[in-house]
Amino acid sequence: MDIKPTVLIIEDEEAICNFISAILTSNNYQVVKAKTGKEGLSMFTSYVPDIVLLDLGLPDIDGVEILKNIRQWSKTPVIVVSARGHEREKVAALDFGADGYIVKPFGTSELLARIRTAMRHSSQGAGEEVSGQEKVIIGTLEIDYNKRVVYKDGEKIHLTSIEYKLLVLLSKNAGKVLTHDFIIREIWGVYTDESHTLRVNMANIRRKIEANPGAPQYILTEMGVGYRMAEEVTEGV
Ligand code: CA
Repeated sequence: MDIKPTVLIIEDEEAICNFISAILTSNNYQVVKAKTGKEGLSMFTSYVPDIVLLDLGLPDIDGVEILKNIRQWSKTPVIVVSARGHEREKVAALDFGADGYIVKPFGTSELLARIRTAMRHSSQGAGEEVSGQEKVIIGTLEIDYNKRVVYKDGEKIHLTSIEYKLLVLLSKNAGKVLTHDFIIREIWGVYTDESHTLRVNMANIRRKIEANPGAPQYILTEMGVGYRMAEEVTEGV
């Protein structure tokens, strides 16, 4: 994989913005810059960056407001860039879902380390995921996360990309009820009304992995709430 992660820098001070941009560009990141909050939000939607560096002191919109706005529909990691001594702002930013903060002035290695950490957390996904887990076996279902292959009764099964993502999300949170909204946000990113699409995809997955899709043993329906993947399944009993 050689796709450069895109970093959106929302920062009104040109010197700082250029400093960050130079470091990131030379470390294999792609950089998009915004000087105001308004510009930042619009670039966020058009570029869908992998991570955001957000200055809290912007000329037009308060940084925390921008964060709240982003968090309404996106889990993209946001690192807050703040001035020394603004503790309350930083706590507020973390409360509203910032993934970390960095205090000006900062150096190259500190900046890169913050970005790596935030991106690692976000790629681990939500919830209880055990980091470094390579595969999971539930009953006669085996999901190999490294190879991105799913086996049922030892046979490889064919899934669409969305079906696979759903199965990964559910299996990594096995035993836990995941709400419809949570699943939709995790898979489709933006909260739109994808509940019908979700149902259709779940039905398709069940047809592929359940002995009797009408009485599922692997993916259980939590009526009116969401879905839960069983932690253990004994088939044929
Ligand atoms: Ca500023």
